[in-house]
Amino acid sequence: MKVLLALLIGIGIALGLQAQSTKKMTITIDDLPMVTLEEDDSMRLQMNLDLLSHLSEYEVPAIGFVNEKKLFNNDGQLVPIRKQMLIEWMEAGFELGNHTYSHPDYNALESEAFFEEVMKGEVITRPLVHHYNQELKYFRHPYLHRGNTPEKVEVLENFLSEKGYIEAPVTIDNSEWIFARAYELALRRNQRLMASRIGDAYVDYMLDKTNYYESNAQELFGRDISQTLLIHDNFLNAAYLGRLLRALSQSGYEFISLKEALEDPAYDSEDTTSLRAGITWLHRWAITKKVDKSFFQGEPSCPQFVQDYAGITE
Ligand SMILES: [Zn+2]
Repeated sequence: MKVLLALLIGIGIALGLQAQSTKKMTITIDDLPMVTLEEDDSMRLQMNLDLLSHLSEYEVPAIGFVNEKKLFNNDGQLVPIRKQMLIEWMEAGFELGNHTYSHPDYNALESEAFFEEVMKGEVITRPLVHHYNQELKYFRHPYLHRGNTPEKVEVLENFLSEKGYIEAPVTIDNSEWIFARAYELALRRNQRLMASRIGDAYVDYMLDKTNYYESNAQELFGRDISQTLLIHDNFLNAAYLGRLLRALSQSGYEFISLKEALEDPAYDSEDTTSLRAGITWLHRWAITKKVDKSFFQGEPSCPQFVQDYAGITE
């Protein structure tokens, strides 16, 4: 009897684990190389390596989206150590994508000027990824702005597809960048306790956000979908990404590539939105489907103390 019970428990655990591992997430990291107030490039390089070590430890097939302007100094000279940061991404086996040259807001630009930004944004990255036998395939919109009129959305879609780019959506949008600003300010002020309080709150907040978007997916599709998380290349993730990845993995997430995530048919959902705001694709699909307003309720917000410390209102 005991053996049977143990067997049943064993099967139960196995089934439970199997059910859990259906949750999938791709990790996309924007604004390479590094969003930081730090001017010391060797420090930036070290932070970038720290962030990569978390991705390697949890075997995350991540993609980083580059703003090539960040590779140059104010005199327009290429800073080799900043290019080295991208080389480290490739050496560690990760992917790179295009996030435009200087991170402009498409709402504020004519389409032609934006297209120039896209092309200028691949000058260094494209040969670099080719050197590692990869292709430059993915494009991420700055501020997640896809166009604030139907015409602008359409011409950009056409342009990107002509150039062979695949748009990289985001389902788990968040205010991680506010935490990142607060965290770095705390480090610079040598307020270690505050820095760790912000870091702890960041991990909790990201788990809450993940739960929220999971329930959005359940409501919209009746199942879990392959989620796409957006975070940035910053000091906060250099320190806390490992903890976040561990927590996500403990809650049943398997980390997959962007390519694999996009194979989820959820990403073929119709999106007829043309908005000024940059929002999650889950909400674009929901707006297109004309869901009830209650769908959007309950989104976790950035804790007030983090907003106050960063001096940024969410
Ligand atoms: Zn960005």
